[in-house]
Amino acid sequence: MQFYGDYHTHTKNSDGHSTVEENVLAAKARGFLDVAITDHGLGCVIMKEKDFRKCFLEVEEARKKHPDINILFGIENTIIDADGLIDMPVERMEEFDIHIVGFHFPIRIPSGKAFREFWLPALLHGNSDKPSRELIERNTRAHIKMLEKYPVDILAHIGDHTPLDAKEVAKACADLGTYIELNSKHLPQCEKMLDAMLGTGVQFIADSDGHRAERVGEFSDTEKLIEKFGLQDRVVNLRTNFYLRSKGREIIRPTVSGYKI
Ligand SMILES: [Zn+2]
Ligand SMILES: [Zn+2]
Repeated sequence: MQFYGDYHTHTKNSDGHSTVEENVLAAKARGFLDVAITDHGLGCVIMKEKDFRKCFLEVEEARKKHPDINILFGIENTIIDADGLIDMPVERMEEFDIHIVGFHFPIRIPSGKAFREFWLPALLHGNSDKPSRELIERNTRAHIKMLEKYPVDILAHIGDHTPLDAKEVAKACADLGTYIELNSKHLPQCEKMLDAMLGTGVQFIADSDGHRAERVGEFSDTEKLIEKFGLQDRVVNLRTNFYLRSKGREIIRPTVSGYKI
């Protein structure tokens, strides 16, 4: 199976262990057209604006040294409350070439209300075998509101600590043009939800979420999942080109980032 890129990788600029260039070299070794560097957003307790700047300069440097691969400067934001807010104002989204949102902690929780309504239930019951209907409905609503508010390209590790109605969220993703991730680190979770999502028109994207260069483009288990569920035509990075909702166009190579230093 030939994948053309990995669109979710981390570096030392957030909680990863490799440099931008090491991730780029790993992607080149896999024969990819694209690799996205997607460190965490400012809601993440370890992140500061200077980390984005440093990461962006490393991406620019890597672009000069490796013009034979398209390097996207992306971000992985986090959903922060039950109204679907994320840890970045919508106006800043133009600065990033690709935009991922998932649920994470520890983060800077914006208010007591967000903590009570969204974070505490996730911490206490997020991975429970029998989440309450109320929790599922609240998380489903939060995700759909988030997808409506922001032009998100990829919904990362769906359902992690946020039990939700996968069919309803997948329907919203299909309508709005957001891809659901087949995340190498969270495949069993994805697989559990696949049956519910397949009846919608949603498309998927294989991503490693690699925090080390060795993990970049590591899709061997993802390939098995794709074969098992017959998803070949619905995984966008098995195509040479695909639409990016946040940009309103297909990927253009080479990418020129709009990040403001
Ligand atoms: Zn994540
Ligand atoms: Zn990640």
